[in-house]
Amino acid sequence: ASLKQELEASIRAIKDYPKPGIVFRDITTLLGQPRAFRRAVDELVHPFAGNRVEKVAGIEARGFILGGAIAHQLSAGFVPIRKKGKLPHDTVRIAYSLEYGVDEMEMHRDAVTAGEKVILVDDLIATGGTAEAACRLLRQMGADIVAACFVIDLPELGGRKKLEALGVDVRTLVE
Ligand code: IMP
Repeated sequence: ASLKQELEASIRAIKDYPKPGIVFRDITTLLGQPRAFRRAVDELVHPFAGNRVEKVAGIEARGFILGGAIAHQLSAGFVPIRKKGKLPHDTVRIAYSLEYGVDEMEMHRDAVTAGEKVILVDDLIATGGTAEAACRLLRQMGADIVAACFVIDLPELGGRKKLEALGVDVRTLVE
């Protein structure tokens, strides 16, 4: 099977989760398959292997799993971007809108230094609102965002275009 086919087959679609009418794309099945997990991580980062990426920033929570593996692969550090109130030290915070209402995410103020090359990671990009907020937060700290990487793109929701409009290179594996 091609990589794309293998990854698609490893991702589970769950109807009516978290609410009626939504089809949730569940990557826990991909993470549980040794070969699919390795191939997804390898494929996401191979264009950046020579880029001397210094940090990988992962978005809570599935971005931690993929981002940790990617950081190890690139010999980079890992930076958690979390929901507000979870990080123990001084943070920078940004509000972003969800389908209903707003939320806030934050990272440690000293997690990235100006000029550092950073890759942003999450499992899926939909409207791009979450990733856009994370990019703004990283740039506020002076990060040089090399790329934003996601296993799944939902292209009809426009997230990729939103990030590209910010000048961020977007890499995804399946639609
Ligand atoms: P966005 O902000 O609209 O791009 O939504 C992306 C965020 O919501 C990411 O943090 C995803 O992990 C999460 N998300 C939205 N839909 C799904 C899904 O179907 N499966 C897994 N995560 C999802």
